[in-house]
Amino acid sequence: MVSIVLPIYNEEKGLEDFILSLKSELTKLSQDFEVIFVNDGSKDNSLSIIKKLCTDHKNFGYINLSRNFGHQIAISAGIDYAKGDTVVLMDSDGQDPPFVIGEMLDKMNEGYDVVYASRTKRENESVLKKLTASIFYKTLNRITSIEIPLNTGDFRVINRKVVEALKQMPEKQRYLRGQIAWLGFNQTSVSYERKGRSAGETGYTYRKMIRLALDAITSFSNWPLRLATISGFVCAFLGFILILYTLYGRFVLKQYEPGWPSLMITIVFLGGIQLLGIGMIGEYISRINDNVKNRPLYLIEETNLEK
Ligand code: UDP
Ligand code: MG
Repeated sequence: MVSIVLPIYNEEKGLEDFILSLKSELTKLSQDFEVIFVNDGSKDNSLSIIKKLCTDHKNFGYINLSRNFGHQIAISAGIDYAKGDTVVLMDSDGQDPPFVIGEMLDKMNEGYDVVYASRTKRENESVLKKLTASIFYKTLNRITSIEIPLNTGDFRVINRKVVEALKQMPEKQRYLRGQIAWLGFNQTSVSYERKGRSAGETGYTYRKMIRLALDAITSFSNWPLRLATISGFVCAFLGFILILYTLYGRFVLKQYEPGWPSLMITIVFLGGIQLLGIGMIGEYISRINDNVKNRPLYLIEETNLEK
């Protein structure tokens, strides 16, 4: 059986059309399928649309989270409840076209554990979003030891082996693209053209994107911490030379400036570096804190599925 996990956040406008096209693709497959909706605290009518779809189809189930936990956690909840041997992760706004699923499943049959969809084009997305995404993923690949494939979102197919492995990763900062890349196994890709959203607005505010970016970096790289240490060393070294120079001017040459500008520059510069270092340490500590609290990843208000 194939499970399709669909995170939903304020998708009332396009959801029904999307489900129609998804269903017509899925019925072409020779396999059984189930659809799992994860309502991530939508503020619109998405939940009632989902419930109606679930009463009309016996292989549709839903999980209603108690509030908005974010895209990555919503997918994680869906994965926990998926019963299929193969699980498809995709967005529910029509940006991940259902017709690619067949091709991805064919690839899986060739013996792959993960098939991710790689987008060749991105329509209707702002230049700023594309630019920041491209810079971010290139930097991320440089500073982490794992290869996170470029130009991919969470649209992918994974098998039971990968699902069980993901369940063993208890981290609270979910970054599934990174986590799945980290797992290893046999991974490959299929290309498609990414369309714009069919309806509604993006649920990814810049705030949420920055959060995701920071989670990705701190979960997979200690490089920012190292950067703080390195810049600390460089500053201390330059400061030391400056001290020698000042002492030389003061006692040997006996020519010296009142020293106000250099003093200010040093203080401001060092102060900046120190704050930077503390800030970065703080990022990690706040995440250690989150993990130590050991709260459940999500809470479910109601569901018609069994784990
Ligand atoms: N989503 C979610 N929780 C959120 C934000 C988004 O479950 O807090 C879902 C959303 O319904 C969609 C998918 O995650 O199915 C991708 O979100 P979106 O299309 O808003 O992101 P974008 O494509 O603009 O990056
Ligand atoms: Mg989208």
